Amino acid sequence: MASEPTPAELAGKTLKALVARKLSPTPENYVRLYAEISGKETFRPAAPSSGMSAGSSTVPSSSWAALIRDLLRQIDLPHKGMTLSRKKEGVNTVLTRFGNDSDLLYEKMQGLILSWGRTGDTSGEVAEPAENSPRISSPAVPGASAPSAASGMDTAIDPVVMTHLRDLLAQTLESNKLLQPELGEEINALVTQIRAAVDGDQVTDVAKKLRHFWVKMELRGGDKVKIQEGLLSLLRLLVENVGELVADDKWLHGQISILRDIMEQPLDKRSIADAEKNLRDALVKQSSLKQSLADAKDTLKSLMTSFIDRMGEMTESTGDYQAKIEGYNLKIGLADNLTELGHILEDLMQDTRVIQASTLRSHEELVVARRQAVEAQEKIRLLEQELEQVSELVREDQLTGTLNRRGMEDVLQREITRSDRTQSPLCISLLDIDNFKLFNDLLGHKAGDLALMHVSETIKNALRPTDAVARYGGEEFLLVLPATHLHEGVDILQRLQRLLTQKLFVHDGEEIIITFSAGVAMRGLNETAEEVIGRADQAMYQAKAAGKNRVVKAES
Ligand code: GH3
Ligand code: MG
Ligand code: MG
Repeated sequence: MASEPTPAELAGKTLKALVARKLSPTPENYVRLYAEISGKETFRPAAPSSGMSAGSSTVPSSSWAALIRDLLRQIDLPHKGMTLSRKKEGVNTVLTRFGNDSDLLYEKMQGLILSWGRTGDTSGEVAEPAENSPRISSPAVPGASAPSAASGMDTAIDPVVMTHLRDLLAQTLESNKLLQPELGEEINALVTQIRAAVDGDQVTDVAKKLRHFWVKMELRGGDKVKIQEGLLSLLRLLVENVGELVADDKWLHGQISILRDIMEQPLDKRSIADAEKNLRDALVKQSSLKQSLADAKDTLKSLMTSFIDRMGEMTESTGDYQAKIEGYNLKIGLADNLTELGHILEDLMQDTRVIQASTLRSHEELVVARRQAVEAQEKIRLLEQELEQVSELVREDQLTGTLNRRGMEDVLQREITRSDRTQSPLCISLLDIDNFKLFNDLLGHKAGDLALMHVSETIKNALRPTDAVARYGGEEFLLVLPATHLHEGVDILQRLQRLLTQKLFVHDGEEIIITFSAGVAMRGLNETAEEVIGRADQAMYQAKAAGKNRVVKAES
């Protein structure tokens, strides 16, 4: 008995176990763990300041005698909705659950007997079948459920224990600051409130806020999982295509530098989606370049082969020279890269000089052939250079022909500088097509792609040449509107909305209205591109929240 932990120690252990098992400190989890750790069915704090050790009875034996007498009487009395076996079952449950604490046993047994009376008082038909009645199955035990769920329970807990609990809950919460530093302020506010909560209302209020907080934490966790999944799919895409496409590692360097840029920024779903789109764009461009490069190399090879043939025809030279030609033919067949082919060509020219003089005509033909070979070589060099830069230089979205994120960043910087220099206003707008997922679901992804092309074409054609359109995300576009005041920006966007209802998208002979929601922001003094886009984004979300198909001005 001496080594039995006090309720305060048990409470401490319970909270530590909550943290260790990474469980949310909900009342349900708390009660479950408390029961597990204490080996008791339910949480029961020490008797209020009795000074007695747990387990010793404060109920006089005369009260016990009266209770037993009452029990014997009530068990035989008819109570509506109660059978004898139900009553016995109730008595048994109370004995099993509270048999090792005589005070509690007394209290619960009294409650059980009273509950029979209440059941019996119930007028009319038996409203609650006995089997389902919570009063019977968890025999009318106040406090058998979560401590904070039963009203009046707070007053039953020793204030010292309460303080202890509050401290531990506050510490548990504070430990989350390490995992989610961005929630630090919110956690601090909750901790202050927890420490100050003394009466029932305050506890209820803080419990409600805690529940919201856990939901939020879980949602954030969900976001992280999505980010992780996004990263994995990005990596997979990269690895798969490296195997298939890379002839040399220049292209890979470009891709790695893009990925490095992305990783250095705070990760979110959107930046990962961007990285993936960038990679896909580069892949499309790269594979077409690779084809041209392969064609050019083939041309060079065939030129060199015919060059050698020609030499073979015209020469009456020694067997030694014939053997060399055989060797060249073999080398050209095996050569795979430009440097190697270049060396072979030089050696060939060297050897050829020896016999060049044999006929003038042949000599001229050789000069022409050589020039062609050099041109082909130059073309290959340029193509390879382009290939090297392509993954860093793609500035256009492959599907819609609008600028991609990189292109947009260049334009934005240029326009911001110009706006500062000329003191002219600059508007930014973000628009997002409404219900586009549904559109894809109903009409298919291919139709979705065509619709994106339709929207971007319509927008591009309706804007001034100095304006710029970029594909900001899947079905989001960013508009850069130089020399434009806020109200003009809103007018432009509304004009685009009207235009889209006039120039309808046609699918399978059917006309479909595409709408969008947009936010418009005018760049403030010294505002960065990121900040002004952020405001336009918020306004766009307000437009969505207000019912979509509308344009909202951003707060300045
Ligand atoms: P909301 O009105 O709130 O913007 O709803 P939404 O359905 O437009 O927005 P959500 O972000 O839920 O879905 C965007 C959809 O756009 C999901 C994605 O499949 C689709 N999408 C993104 N990029 C492309 C693309 O290149 N082609 C096609 N066909 N669909 C795309
Ligand atoms: Mg969207
Ligand atoms: Mg959308």
